[in-house]
Amino acid sequence: MCWEGSCMQLDTEALLERDLEKKMAEETKILLVEDEKVIRDAVAAYIERERFQVVAVGDGQEALNAFAHDTFSLVVLDLMLPTVQGDEICRRIREKSNVPLIMLTAKSEVEDRIIGLEMGADDYLIKPFSPRELMARVRALLRRSQNQSENAEDRIDFGDLVIDMLGHRVLLYGKDVELTASEFKLLTTLTESPGRVFSRMDLVTKVLGYNFEGYERTIDSHMKNLRAKLEEDSRNPRWLFTVHGVGYRFDIPNDIR
Ligand code: CA
Repeated sequence: MCWEGSCMQLDTEALLERDLEKKMAEETKILLVEDEKVIRDAVAAYIERERFQVVAVGDGQEALNAFAHDTFSLVVLDLMLPTVQGDEICRRIREKSNVPLIMLTAKSEVEDRIIGLEMGADDYLIKPFSPRELMARVRALLRRSQNQSENAEDRIDFGDLVIDMLGHRVLLYGKDVELTASEFKLLTTLTESPGRVFSRMDLVTKVLGYNFEGYERTIDSHMKNLRAKLEEDSRNPRWLFTVHGVGYRFDIPNDIR
C-alpha cells in the first residue's frame, strides 16, 4: 500500500541500485589460483555466475605474473601450489597491495590458519569447502573493502605519526617504520577511532577477519611488536594504550591535539 508517486520513485531507485550492482560486478576482477583443475573450474564457474570477471591460473609463478600485470579486486589463493607456494605469493602481494585475499588449504590445523593470517590473508577456507560458502565470503570481503575505500582517507596525519593508506606506509618522525600486514591493519583499525577502546575480540575480528577466541593472544603479540616499533618507552606510551581487562586504544598525544 503506497502512494503512486513514491512507489515509482522507489522502483526507479531499486533499478538504479540494480544497475549499479551489475556494473560493479562487471568491474570486479578476481584472481583465482588453484592447481587442482576440478576445483579451479568449479570455483571459476561460480565466480562468473555472479558476473564477476575471473582470471584462473594453476601455478604460483603464473599467479605472480598475473598479479604484476593486472589489477584485481580480490584474490583466492590455494596454499599448496607448484613453483611458488601460496604463503610466499601472499607475502609478495602484501608487500605492495591491500587487495582482499582468501586462502584455501587442504589441511585443517590451526597453525596453518595462523600462517595464512600472519601472511596477511583476510580469510581462510579449508578444503573441502562449498563454492557457495566461498562466494559468501568473497562478497563479504568485497563489501568490506569497498566500504573501507569509500571511507578511507589516503593519508592520516597525527603530526609525528603519519599513515599513508594508499602507499601502505607508516612514518614516525619522518622515517619509514617497517610493519607487517597484521601490524598495519591493527594500527589503522585503532587510529580510525582515536580514544575508542577496542576489546581484543573486536581486534581479532577486524584485524584477522576471524571470530575465534584462540586468536586473542595473537593480537597481544602484534600489539607488543607494534609498540616496540612505534613507542620509545612501552611502559609510558605516547600512542598505544592498554585498557586493563578490556583491550587497547590509540590516542592522539596532547601536544598534537
Ligand atoms: Ca593445491
